[in-house]
Amino acid sequence: MLTSRLPDRVEPYKLAARRERLEGRVALSGLSRLAEEAGPQSGDCRVVLEFGIDAQGRREIHGSLEASLMLACRRCLVPIEHPVKSDFLLGMVADEALAGELPASHEPVLVENEQLNLLTLVEDELILSLPQVIYHDEADCLVPAEQLVSKADEAEEDEAASDDNPFAVLRTLKDKQ
Ligand SMILES: [Zn+2]
Repeated sequence: MLTSRLPDRVEPYKLAARRERLEGRVALSGLSRLAEEAGPQSGDCRVVLEFGIDAQGRREIHGSLEASLMLACRRCLVPIEHPVKSDFLLGMVADEALAGELPASHEPVLVENEQLNLLTLVEDELILSLPQVIYHDEADCLVPAEQLVSKADEAEEDEAASDDNPFAVLRTLKDKQ
């Protein structure tokens, strides 16, 4: 079981040289960019990061994360619990210009002043693993699927309009007199 918090910042070159493995949790409530993309979250993200140096001398991080996010249903806006899981391979670069030299298998991660912000890293990966849109199953959704068919909508509106039309009522009264 992972109970420890992942450190906010590490020195990744040192960790790579020692081939260290970090495991820990990140509180989702502290990730403001994620909240902007996906709404407020609670609970933790479980993270494993393995630092190393590959045969070409590239310093890299094999990572995986798992979290349960609450994402708004596109139809009814009620949040749905949605598990996300991601495996990623990062290549450390000291300069954004060097990112182009990485093979396609590696996502670049910027190391500034020999420091790496792990919260930013985890937040970036979480945002990348968000689904484009999410819906409830029809039976669970507050908005029934038939209301989404615009033609049915229009027909219902027409009917409602004729029932409620006060002039229609007046006309009926006049005819009776
Ligand atoms: Zn829904």
